[in-house]
Amino acid sequence: MPSSTAPAPSDRWLQLSERLYRRLLLVYPLTFRRAFGAEMAQTFRACCRAAVRESGTAGLLRLWGSVCYDLMTSAVIEHIRAWIALFKRLSGLEKELHMITVPFHLDVAQLTDIGRKRARNEDNMTSVVPTDRQALAQKGALFVVADGLGGHDRGEEASRLAVNTISDVYYNSPVEDTGDALAQAVRAANTVVCDLSTQQEHAEEKATGTTCVTAVLRGDTVYVANVGDSRAYIVRAGHIQQITHDHSWVADQVRLGALTEEQARTHEKRNQIYRCLGIKPEVEIDLFTETVQDGDALVLCTDGLSSLVTDAEIAEIVEQYNPQESVKRLVERANEQGGTDNITAVVARVSLA
Ligand code: CA
Repeated sequence: MPSSTAPAPSDRWLQLSERLYRRLLLVYPLTFRRAFGAEMAQTFRACCRAAVRESGTAGLLRLWGSVCYDLMTSAVIEHIRAWIALFKRLSGLEKELHMITVPFHLDVAQLTDIGRKRARNEDNMTSVVPTDRQALAQKGALFVVADGLGGHDRGEEASRLAVNTISDVYYNSPVEDTGDALAQAVRAANTVVCDLSTQQEHAEEKATGTTCVTAVLRGDTVYVANVGDSRAYIVRAGHIQQITHDHSWVADQVRLGALTEEQARTHEKRNQIYRCLGIKPEVEIDLFTETVQDGDALVLCTDGLSSLVTDAEIAEIVEQYNPQESVKRLVERANEQGGTDNITAVVARVSLA
């Protein structure tokens, strides 16, 4: 028959020690206690029992000596860590508040057209303006235009994949720096299009690739990444500024002074580009940052527009009409000029509040 017996002296010390240790855990910051308190109490309990088994109460006292020292030093360290974390949180909050103090309204339109000569439209585009105010403040609005190249329907697939990958990767990226996150998204698109190229059934098929110009508008700043000869412009008070540099043979000749803009527009090598997505596993990306002003219009387009409609004409149309009407008129104008290529335009007008 079981009988109740008084606890041994060492058991009493054990119980007292465990209670005291749980109280002492209060010196740690709350978040640390919540994460590790239970585990620490359990470990202490096991150590106490081992110490009592080996050396009785004397062993328990020795254990307490080292525990007190460790507990105090680690508590100080954890408080310092907690203060640093709090400071970081507060500075992040300040940054967020700053973003919210620069709200903007966007009027966006996009249009793509097959043109008058091509059998397929290999251009693709997207505009993403998050409806959630916080998401808009943190990630901004994204615009992508891509001009695919390749045999059969590969060009169309390449530009579609690039546009979708950039949008997906950018908005899911944990990278806080906007330019870095945008570059990461473009590199991901390059990998996806490279994979598409390697799936070609016939080695003699033309290489598959795509240009890509992408812009993120966040607060009063626009971040632009470019590979190829699709373009980004800012139209401000009737003046147009090309943000990107074309990675094309004719653009290089214009920069060297060997060709004029007008000659480049009609040159037989005007379609030769030396950089695009999908050709090599590593891709060099041009990144630009510009501050936008109230009333500015951001324009992204493929060479089907910029090779047929002059910069001055683009500025005139965008300045005169709202984005919806602008994209229609830009495409119309390129078709009037022959529509020799697919035509794509995105126009986003910024109103800073
Ligand atoms: Ca084109």
